[in-house]
Amino acid sequence: MRRRKAVAPGTSRQGVLRLPRSSEHFDAVIVGGGPAGSTAGYRLATEGARVLLLDRAVFPRDKPCGGGVTLRGARQLPFSLAPVVDQEVTAMDFRFRFGLAARHEYDQPIVLMTRRSRLDAYLLERAAEVGVEVREGVRVREVVPHPVSPEARGDGFRVRGAVVLGADGANGISAAALGGAPARWDVIAYEGNADRARYRSREFDGSMLFEIGIVPGGYGWIFPKADHANFGVGGWFHEGPQMKAHLTRLCAAHGVSIDDLAGLRGYRIPFRGPESPIAGRRLALIGDAAGLADPLSGDGMFEAFTSARLAAENTLAILGGRARDFSFYRRELRSEIGRHSAASWWAKLVLERWPRLGYGVAASRLGGKLFYQDLRGERTVHLPVTSGLAAVIEGAAQRQLLTGATPSSR
Ligand SMILES: Cc1cc2nc3c(=O)[nH]c(=O)nc-3n(C[C@H](O)[C@H](O)[C@H](O)COP(=O)(O)OP(=O)(O)OC[C@H]3O[C@@H](n4cnc5c(N)ncnc54)[C@H](O)[C@@H]3O)c2cc1C
Repeated sequence: MRRRKAVAPGTSRQGVLRLPRSSEHFDAVIVGGGPAGSTAGYRLATEGARVLLLDRAVFPRDKPCGGGVTLRGARQLPFSLAPVVDQEVTAMDFRFRFGLAARHEYDQPIVLMTRRSRLDAYLLERAAEVGVEVREGVRVREVVPHPVSPEARGDGFRVRGAVVLGADGANGISAAALGGAPARWDVIAYEGNADRARYRSREFDGSMLFEIGIVPGGYGWIFPKADHANFGVGGWFHEGPQMKAHLTRLCAAHGVSIDDLAGLRGYRIPFRGPESPIAGRRLALIGDAAGLADPLSGDGMFEAFTSARLAAENTLAILGGRARDFSFYRRELRSEIGRHSAASWWAKLVLERWPRLGYGVAASRLGGKLFYQDLRGERTVHLPVTSGLAAVIEGAAQRQLLTGATPSSR
C-alpha cells in the first residue's frame, strides 16, 4: 500500500489548504470516511459526480473492529482488497463455554482479515484517486435536511449538496437530522491485540475462533492477523461493565493474560429497528449510521458496502433526474439486507435462549456448509418471505429479545 502522509486538519486530499467556505455546493456531500462513506464516494465520483467527503479524523485512523471482511462483503467492492489483507481465513473454530470444540475447514477463503487503520486509509485513498474531494480533521456538527439542497454544518462552514449521505458511524450526528429516531438497539464490543510473541497457540492461524455462551447477547472471538491476534467480546449494551471480566476469561482460556493485550477499547455496534428512519428526501444514512450491522455476528462491513452501493445508485438517479428522492434506496436495502437481517435476529434469539442448541447448529456439518456459502456470498441465508413480512417477523424477534431493554438514544 502506498504510504499516506497525515494531512493537517482542514486540508484537502488534493493538496491545497482549503478550509470549507460558506456557500460551496456539490452533487453529494458525504459525512464520514469509513467503509460506507469512502466506497459511496468512490462509486459516485467514478460516474462523474462532484463529491465532497468530510471526516473528523485524520487518516490513517483506527476504528475498534475485528477487521474481518467477509468474502460476501469484499465482493461488493469494485476493486481488490489484496494490498491490505493480513490473512485469508479458511477455517472456523466454534467453542462452547471454553469446553466443547468443533472446526470447519474449507478449500477457499471465507473472510479476509484486515486492520482497520490500513483498510480505511486504503479505501479513502481509492476514493480520492477517482476525484472525491476528501477533507480530513473536519467535524460536522449538524446536517440540515432540505427538499433539494441539504446542508452539512460545522464550526465556521456550511456545505450544500444535491444529496447528503450520512456515513458517520455509530456515534454520528447525521441520523438526528431524520428526526424521531425510534428504537435503535446497540451491543457493545470490547477488544485488544495480543502480539504473536504473547500468543502461544498458533493453531488458529488461518481460522476464526468463536466462543459461544460466554457473553449475554453475544460471543467471544479470536481473529488472526499478520503479527498479532485480535481478542474480543461483544454483548448487550447493559453488559458494558462486565466486558473486561468477559475478555479476561476469554484470554485466560486461550493462554493469554489480558494485561498482554494492547489497545484495549470498547465501541458500540448499532442495530436498527424495522421502523428506524433511514432516508429522507435528499438525505440517506448508510452503514453504522443507519444501524445496519448484522444482529447475529455484529459484522457491519458487508452492510456498509451494500448500503453505500445502493445509496450511490439512488444518488446518481436523483442527479440524473430519474428519481426525486431515496425511495429506491429504502426499497432495495430492504430487499437485499432485510430478509437476511430477519433470519439473523431469529438465530440470535435461539443463541440467546438455547446457547447449546445454537452451538450444536454452528458445529454441525450443515451449519458449516451454511456459514461457508453465506460468508462467501454464494447463498445468502434469509427468510423465504417478502421483505415486508420479513420486517414484521424481525420486529417479533426483537420484541422477544429486547423486552425490558431500553433503546439507545442517538
Ligand atoms: C469491536 C468491534 C468489532 C467489529 N468487528 C467487525 C468485523 O470483524 N467485521 C465486520 O464486518 N464488522 C465488524 N464490526 C462492525 C464494523 O466496525 C462497522 O460496522 C463498520 O465500521 C461500519 O462502517 P461505517 O463506515 O458505517 O462507520 P465507521 O467505520 O464508524 O466510520 C465512520 C466515520 O465517520 C467519521 N465521523 C463520525 N462522526 C463524524 C462527524 N460528526 N463529522 C465528520 N466525520 C465523522 C468517523 O471519524 C469515521 O471515520 C465491529 C465493530 C466493533 C465495535
